[in-house]
Amino acid sequence: MTLKKIFDKMGIRYSEDNIYFQTINSILSASDKINMPLNLQMMLAEPKNEVMVHFPVELDNGDWEIFKGYRVQHNNILGPYKGGIRFHPEVSLDHIKALAAMMTIKCALVKLPYGGAKGGVRIDSRNYSVDEMERMTRRFTSALGGNIGPSYDIPAPDVGTNAQIMAWMADTYINLSSPHNRLNSRAVVTGKPLAFGGSEGRDKATGQGLVFVVAELLPEMGYDLKKINFSILGFGNVGSWGARLLQERGSTMHAVMDHSGALYNANGIDADDLADYSSKNGGIKGYPKADETSEDEFYAADVDLLIPAALEQMITLDRAKILKCKVIAEGGNVPLTPEAEKYVLANGIDVLPAVLCNSGGVTVSYFEWQQNRQASYWSLKKIDAELGKLMVSAANRVKIRAKELDCDMYTAAYSEAMSYIKDAYEIRGIFP
Ligand code: GLU
Repeated sequence: MTLKKIFDKMGIRYSEDNIYFQTINSILSASDKINMPLNLQMMLAEPKNEVMVHFPVELDNGDWEIFKGYRVQHNNILGPYKGGIRFHPEVSLDHIKALAAMMTIKCALVKLPYGGAKGGVRIDSRNYSVDEMERMTRRFTSALGGNIGPSYDIPAPDVGTNAQIMAWMADTYINLSSPHNRLNSRAVVTGKPLAFGGSEGRDKATGQGLVFVVAELLPEMGYDLKKINFSILGFGNVGSWGARLLQERGSTMHAVMDHSGALYNANGIDADDLADYSSKNGGIKGYPKADETSEDEFYAADVDLLIPAALEQMITLDRAKILKCKVIAEGGNVPLTPEAEKYVLANGIDVLPAVLCNSGGVTVSYFEWQQNRQASYWSLKKIDAELGKLMVSAANRVKIRAKELDCDMYTAAYSEAMSYIKDAYEIRGIFP
């Protein structure tokens, strides 16, 4: 059944370029490939719970401001809900719903014992002091109340949030829970600072996971990691770690763009040096060892690999048409619009999907949660080894499924995840 028919049946308005429909479309077309029954497809077409909260925060000047926050819990057939919290001025319900559904897919693809969720607050953090951000985060956590918990729904960092914000969330949650029930409480969020139950390797985890996937799949596609060059869209956590770790394996960064500008150097841009510059200057603009370039020139850079690691749907059809890369490894979620996605696939660019490439973040979150629950500590060596195993296994399962179904890697990744979810539903059934 087509997506439109499913939505008609459920009484939901359908619009093709909406990010939520784009995501559910990927899920449902992959489900068709594995003959998933219609009732299961319908279960996954809508999230289980959509929590929306409005809460006041006292500003430094004594005024109050009301904020809007979300937590969408898409599916929990495989385990507690899991996924990041985003602080961004463009956070909307459909956006969070799409990202929550992607978390369900990511966790299933890596076979983590989690379902999918995502949350966020509509806020432009640049306009608030550190104290205001702390009060906002704590008040949001208390507004979420029992909707989160170490065995129920476990948030993590996402765009605009970091280890400090996770620490405030965990501290608030712990203070609100009974003193007799605090043993596992710090496992309520992952991505915390090392000094407060965080894990080694969580900061670089998403970039590291992407590099494990690329290193596993690119050689068979005919690319030698030591010889390839790449460009990066977005030089935040995922982009800068991805670039540094690829450089460690001998690849060369030729072009990079972030919110402040774009750079190009045919002789290579040192990713470590640029990461250092960018953290001191709030962006890559003005970096002296590369040429400033235009947006179009960035997209048109003649590179082997493009890693989009910025916000959603940034690569529009016009931008897709000027791309010269041969492979896209999606560091960020949904980097292409639906038309751009169709265009690149039809024009022979191989796409390694986000649900595979960026699942390293939630995988190390899982390791952090395990350590918190066991009151134990894993070394970075152990984290990297375990992450490598899970990423390589997921990458290979996607590759095998693509061959079996004779389809692109997007469809293969979603089908692989959906077949795991289908098995769980078939065994568990529904209650009552
Ligand atoms: N926000 C990250 C993601 O989208 C991490 C989620 C997590 O660690 O739970 O994958």
